[in-house]
Amino acid sequence: MILLINPKTTKPSEFQSEYFREPSLGLLYLTALLERYNMDVDVLDLEQYFDLSIDELESIFKEISKKYNLFGITCLTNTYKYSINIAKFIKRYNPSAVIVFGGPHVSFLYDTIFMTESIIDFICVGESEISFIQLSELLMQLQKKLIDHKDFINKVQLIRGLAYKTSKGKVYFTGYPEIVNLEDQPLPARYKLSQPNYYYKVANVIINRGCPNECSFCSRQSLFQKVRIRNISSILSEIRDIISLQNYEYINFYDNININKGFLHNFCNMFITNQITIPWGCELRVDSIKDYDAKLLKEAGCKLVATGIESASQEVLYANFKYQDPTQVLNGLKNLKKHGIAVQCYFVLGLPGENESTFQETVNYIRKLPLTHEDKLEYFAATPYPGSKLWENQEKYQIKIIEKDFSKFDCQHIIFETPDLNLQQLIAMFKIAKELEKFHSTD
Ligand code: SF4
Repeated sequence: MILLINPKTTKPSEFQSEYFREPSLGLLYLTALLERYNMDVDVLDLEQYFDLSIDELESIFKEISKKYNLFGITCLTNTYKYSINIAKFIKRYNPSAVIVFGGPHVSFLYDTIFMTESIIDFICVGESEISFIQLSELLMQLQKKLIDHKDFINKVQLIRGLAYKTSKGKVYFTGYPEIVNLEDQPLPARYKLSQPNYYYKVANVIINRGCPNECSFCSRQSLFQKVRIRNISSILSEIRDIISLQNYEYINFYDNININKGFLHNFCNMFITNQITIPWGCELRVDSIKDYDAKLLKEAGCKLVATGIESASQEVLYANFKYQDPTQVLNGLKNLKKHGIAVQCYFVLGLPGENESTFQETVNYIRKLPLTHEDKLEYFAATPYPGSKLWENQEKYQIKIIEKDFSKFDCQHIIFETPDLNLQQLIAMFKIAKELEKFHSTD
């Protein structure tokens, strides 16, 4: 029996924001796939538990660890440590359990992780829909004694997208995983989330994987090697599935839903033609949003657009591969506001190339944005996530990482200094940024 675990990611201060809390879709896709292959699987989404202390966490695993023999844990950089604690609890109460980690952090750092951590048995590198299913099938065969350990190891080597430590202590990587065809995937198994603790009101829907852009602070283009957009009919099926569950009041669509303008128009027309009236929001690049696009988004029921603006300085943007013109961004925002769509604008402080003058330029720019009480602004600290250009090219960017604790890689802590900005300067600027955020985020 398999248990898939989503560690807790929400911080107490964000607790009240109903648009913040969303389940891990990756796990729900995997769950649906495992069921398709007739494997018994449960989901433990720790986001569904309120104020869980470490002792309470341990007692959960004391109670359930023996029920399962395979555990899949997804984690981000800032939840890696927490996920390791979960793995330790599992092995404490079920030493023969097999523990598989997945997600962006371990995908990029599997080598160093296996050098220091013996609690993890396998890491699914990159997209895990194929590798995890194949590994699960092999483990089931091993447990039922249909194959012996030697066969198991021989067959594991043939599964692309796995990393593990061999009996000789070497880290072995089976090669990059196969690119997943999004149209082959079942709908995420939202029905497997814990019903007694089911408070999710907002459904998240992934409409594409990969990104044609190359922002220095993002690892998406390395994690998903190819850009794929789902077809409209499968998205429509998922929306209908969400509405049929009756828990949801709102849907958020990810990621940039306008990497293809034709798709954006078809997507909006899907709501209009099929008279889908559930309110929704999305992430998109706002620099290409014309009046017609904004009007269509409004007609389709879009309530909120979230967009990464990052900086008003063209030099900072270009140094970080964000090829976006702040003037066009402003025009796009005006178009959205003209049609009554709320916006959520993201900025990043402290990217390479940032200095006190570029920060001031951004602050002045923010003051000119057409934001009203319904709009929000979020200011993040630049964070060099493993897999991003910032992480891979620390020397080239001349960044000095001063915070080694991965649990602080949450965009709310200063992680690195640059030749232009030291820690004290960054802290002072982040304080101003957070005041701006507060000013634009309280109704
Ligand atoms: S930050 Fe957004 S636009 Fe930039 S590379 Fe990542 S997903 Fe693409």
